[in-house]
Amino acid sequence: AAKADGRGVHRFFRSELLVGARSRKQLEDDLRTALAQDQFHVAYQPVVSTKSERIVGYEALLRWDHPTRGAVSPAEFIPVAEECGLIEAIGEWVLRTACMEAAGWPHDVRVAVNVSPIQFANPALPTVVTSALAKSGIRPARLELEITEGVFLNDNASSEHMFKMLKGLGVRLALDDFGTGYSSLGYLKKAPFDKIKIDQSFVKGAAIAGNRNAAIIKAIVTLADTLGMETTAEGVEVQDEIALIRDLGCSHIQGYVYGKPARAAEVLRQLAAADGMATASGYRVSRSQ
Ligand code: C2E
Ligand code: MG
Ligand code: MG
Ligand code: MG
Repeated sequence: AAKADGRGVHRFFRSELLVGARSRKQLEDDLRTALAQDQFHVAYQPVVSTKSERIVGYEALLRWDHPTRGAVSPAEFIPVAEECGLIEAIGEWVLRTACMEAAGWPHDVRVAVNVSPIQFANPALPTVVTSALAKSGIRPARLELEITEGVFLNDNASSEHMFKMLKGLGVRLALDDFGTGYSSLGYLKKAPFDKIKIDQSFVKGAAIAGNRNAAIIKAIVTLADTLGMETTAEGVEVQDEIALIRDLGCSHIQGYVYGKPARAAEVLRQLAAADGMATASGYRVSRSQ
């Protein structure tokens, strides 16, 4: 399926399919070099409140400028990094970079960072997060960790412990790509998520009359509301979908309609241009970008 770009187990098969064994080994070697030679950067995509239509945060998305292949998609190289044991070092670099760059933003703008199930299974994660927060000086509540259902494939007791540790640090937790994978409702009961991110496959076509995706989004929002969790609709691309998503009750929107992932310097320009850095009320987005 198109959305089997999932994490962990699923990705393993996908990366094996996409990348032949020899070029996969090459990719692995190149990934090792990439970290050392500074070929990565983080791009940031705005997350907008449906109520205020203001930017409340950004999702950090890893970018790799390969010296000969050009931009390589994280959907291609993250699975390889997970398989060859590089995801921890790369993930730590992303966390540190994202927190440092977010430290230059207004203090009410959050940053969300994707965390691989492999990082989540490592008892060192709370220390890595604590160190990123300390070095950057941002408040823990400004950092949101995005995890996928892949984390529930791990041993139960240790993932429950990890949830407690992370919540204990004061960071926020979001369940990414909800609706793909197993989507067991038991996960929502077990884990202290602050937010559910509704996968973009449900947003596609939701604005077309008679499309079932709208009903599914509504059901997820109702569930999230009951559990006291926020909801972000991912992959909102067109103007028509904004009103629909808002009417379905989603608290946040993320998608090309408000902005593609952009470099840190561009984010600073966006925030400065938005409404003036000084207002406490938020940062207006321009829909023209
Ligand atoms: P994700 O966490 O679900 O991130 C959202 C993806 O949707 C991003 O793709 C983003 O560019 C894309 N997107 C956002 N708005 C739209 C839209 O309106 N239309 C369409 N078609 N796409 C949209 P990207 O950057 O290619 O990342 C793909 C996946 O790679 C991410 O999915 C995430 O699972 C993974 N990833 C990216 N950065 C990291 C990272 O630092 N660590 C880990 N572990 N995974 C990462
Ligand atoms: Mg994400
Ligand atoms: Mg997602
Ligand atoms: Mg995704």
